[in-house]
Amino acid sequence: MNARTALGLAAALAIGTAHAAPDTKLLDAAKAAQPAVVDTLKTLVTIETGSADVEGLAKIAGVLDDRLKALGFKTERRKATAGADIVIGTLKGTGKRNVMLQAHMDTVYERGILQSQPIRQDGNRLYGPGIADDKGGIAVILHSIKILNEAGWKDYGTLTVLFDPDEEVGSNGSGETIAALAAQHDVVLSCEPTTAKDVVKTETLLLGAAGTASVVMEVKGRASHAGAAPELGRNAIYEISHQMLQTRDLAKEVPGAIMNWTNVISNKATNQIPELAVARADVRMTQPGVEVKLNELLQARIASSKLIPDTTTTATLTVGRPAFIANAAGKALAERGQAIYREIDRELALVPMTGGATDAAFAARSGKAAVVESFGLAGFGYHARDEYIELDSIVPRLYLMTRILTEIGRQ
Ligand SMILES: [Zn+2]
Repeated sequence: MNARTALGLAAALAIGTAHAAPDTKLLDAAKAAQPAVVDTLKTLVTIETGSADVEGLAKIAGVLDDRLKALGFKTERRKATAGADIVIGTLKGTGKRNVMLQAHMDTVYERGILQSQPIRQDGNRLYGPGIADDKGGIAVILHSIKILNEAGWKDYGTLTVLFDPDEEVGSNGSGETIAALAAQHDVVLSCEPTTAKDVVKTETLLLGAAGTASVVMEVKGRASHAGAAPELGRNAIYEISHQMLQTRDLAKEVPGAIMNWTNVISNKATNQIPELAVARADVRMTQPGVEVKLNELLQARIASSKLIPDTTTTATLTVGRPAFIANAAGKALAERGQAIYREIDRELALVPMTGGATDAAFAARSGKAAVVESFGLAGFGYHARDEYIELDSIVPRLYLMTRILTEIGRQ
């Protein structure tokens, strides 16, 4: 154990025995805001915003642009995809620290989902497509800022809010904007959901997420008549099978990398020796840079052996999201979040790594900002059916966000 860890542990133990009293002003404001948060959630979920839903994304961008302006932000739009904008708001304060809050507007659901999965409440659960992932995150941002505005808080240099429209499809159009903006900030709080308490015991903040990449492998052989002249053909399916098998365990040699072949396409005809076959692999990275090593091994392995002469095999690895690994400042901030949660007698677990990808990866890429993920509402069922948030997570999450912002301002 190094000195830093020991100090952190001592502080944690001290907090564990006698935690600080809550900031009752912020807590009361969070309680008072709950009905408005529910209204906002209903407004946002009612606008269907699948990642390809150009119309829905334009509508929600308009609504959020107006909401940010009403909170005093200067807003701008940047193109993310052919059809959708990133909404960015900036607010100037009188403090020193530059803070960015981010969440995404798009969902995984197709247009029409509200017909089969309408908004409904059942006890502590409010159901709706995208309500947790990530409209709950948007609501936390808007209402936390409203609470702090009303408290007269100006303890920041620049407060930036970013809502992107393509997170669920890899943030290809907004990743670079997120990375560039985040590098100009001291802190980025990313607002994906935390898992509901009825699923896991403790709410969480997230400090790491796997990066994603894909490999496209292509084999070119030679077509021929499968009955009359099979010997003239060079079977691309046989060759790609060989190449997939000889590379299937490659990632085991690269700690922090996972690779699985997940898709193959080839000939449609059944009476022809296939000329072309294409395979795709899903790659996950839990350490920075491992995709480079994996790609080197992949290229070497493919070159090392061939089953069918006269075929050519190429493989291209493309990185989607980088891996998210919080730096020391991010970890310290998350520990502060734990202490804040204890003020209201709640526990918060810090999760070092998850398999799911997140925009926090782009925010953390430069290593300059302290980045922590999962400041959204507690929920479950995202990317599945019957997505919901837990209503009793609204107040604690508003308290967490508002308190941590005021603490960041004081640093
Ligand atoms: Zn999400």
